[in-house]
Amino acid sequence: MTPPAHVTYTVQVADLATTRYRVSVKAEGLRDPEVAFQLPAWTPGWYVLRGNERNLSGFSATGPTQKPLPLKQSDAHTWRVSTEGAASVTFSYDLKASDTGFGFFEPYLDRQHGFVPGPAALTYVVDGKEAPCTIDYQLPKGWQVASGNTPVAGKPHTFSAPNYDTLADQPAELGTFTRIDRTIQSTPFSVVFTGGDPTRYARWAESVFKIAQAGIQVFGGAPFERYVFFFHFSREGSFFGGLEHLNSTVLRLDPSNLRQPDAENLTIVAHEFIHAWNIKRIRPAALGPFDYMRPVRVRDLWFAEGVTDYFAPLLTVMAGLGTQRFWLGYQAEQLTQLQSNPSRHRVTLEETSSKVWESQEESEGYGGLSYYNKGLVVGLLLDIELRKRTANTIGLIDVLKDLLAQCQKSGRGYAEGEIERTASRLAKSDLSSFFERALRSTDELQIIEQLAAGGILAEAAVSKSATLGIGWDLSQVGQAKIGIVTPQGPAAKAGLLPGDVILSVDGQPLEALLGGAFTTQKPGDTLRLTYQRSGVTQQATLTLGTEEATSFRLRPAPRPTTSQAGILAGLSGKPTL
Ligand SMILES: [Zn+2]
Repeated sequence: MTPPAHVTYTVQVADLATTRYRVSVKAEGLRDPEVAFQLPAWTPGWYVLRGNERNLSGFSATGPTQKPLPLKQSDAHTWRVSTEGAASVTFSYDLKASDTGFGFFEPYLDRQHGFVPGPAALTYVVDGKEAPCTIDYQLPKGWQVASGNTPVAGKPHTFSAPNYDTLADQPAELGTFTRIDRTIQSTPFSVVFTGGDPTRYARWAESVFKIAQAGIQVFGGAPFERYVFFFHFSREGSFFGGLEHLNSTVLRLDPSNLRQPDAENLTIVAHEFIHAWNIKRIRPAALGPFDYMRPVRVRDLWFAEGVTDYFAPLLTVMAGLGTQRFWLGYQAEQLTQLQSNPSRHRVTLEETSSKVWESQEESEGYGGLSYYNKGLVVGLLLDIELRKRTANTIGLIDVLKDLLAQCQKSGRGYAEGEIERTASRLAKSDLSSFFERALRSTDELQIIEQLAAGGILAEAAVSKSATLGIGWDLSQVGQAKIGIVTPQGPAAKAGLLPGDVILSVDGQPLEALLGGAFTTQKPGDTLRLTYQRSGVTQQATLTLGTEEATSFRLRPAPRPTTSQAGILAGLSGKPTL
């Protein structure tokens, strides 16, 4: 198909009472007898098919003189219009704002706010995603709009983008929100707030700006023309966390976080900001241009997410919000999580990256192994390995900078294997045995020895405790939903399945047990569980198993060599000696 010359989107707040938008997509410069419009089946950054198309209804298609044109839906995501010779076609639909909180992956609307995430709201022209776009928001009186897309001069509610991928990647916040602006090293930044205590906004924004400054410093410049941090402070809704975009990020946090704008609460902000480089611009080749119709398998998600998470606490230290002690504590927690997780014996890091689509409940990995968690640990060990082999002249950050330069030069993402090739080239040393073990085997990582080379004394304590043999699905706040069931484990033997929601244990409601959950139980004890499956309440009796956990404490080595002290300083953000 010949692509359109230009696509104009109009998003109108159509009905506050029924929380509906009306979306119009006008494709111009058409030459073919038919034009097709398609809604993405997934949202980049969250590797789950969410069924966004269920929010669309009331379809119509018109030509340039408002003349109705024949329209048919050919599958769940695709609508085809016969142009009848018209060069311009407008496809319109109602969009139900179905999110129950402040919005995240799905559109949201209430009397003060709206949130429009591109992939769940905006259809693209099939074979025409490369066409330049503009988007205009038609809003109730007094509402404003904020977005990472390019503002159109003289039109405060209109933005432009060079293509659909860019347009859709930038969500828009609508309504009567608070916005705080700051220019950092010639780049304009905005922090947009919804919810929480407004008297705390200014201090929070100060910490966010320090993180922005640290990020630019670490990567040696900003790769975007502007950047927006969207904060939704709320206890309502379906998702806590953050999602990265090209020039912005959306974070959904608990309102209590606003009281302490410190490293603890802002590491997630640093994580999302690092994504502006790692994944958005240093990106696996399969992640852009996107195939929105199919799951896209990527074996390097450990690098995109885990290594991003590895650098997040470093950014808070460099921003002056955290200390080396905080940095060590963060790494120790991640080591404890990994070394207490039996899934590390069954699933490799590349497997958990590429098979994430097969565990639809949680977008963090496959088979119980999180690519965030093991990816972070491998990032830490790789950073030490690089510094060890290069007299502390090359670190993991140099691998990211080199990959960034490669991606910017080629205009494409990096190929499979490119991370390993780049690391070996920069280290002038063959790192294949390191990568083989870390990414493609389930062999134990050499944690204690490697940390020692990095000037870190690791103390590991092994403990035995009772286990249910499940991993919780944390995507639903306030619900004890099972995400993972360990094969042959206690829950599996009791017949429990992923998706089951535990309602009570031994007759006690689960809220009373969570937090201090199951701490008084011993391996071999039996529990009576009441749970819900497909709306039906059922009972199961479960015998607790034994779980071995290794917990880590990290501190600087007491008498480090010059090399060890230098590596630790390089890793944790202190100036090298
Ligand atoms: Zn992330």
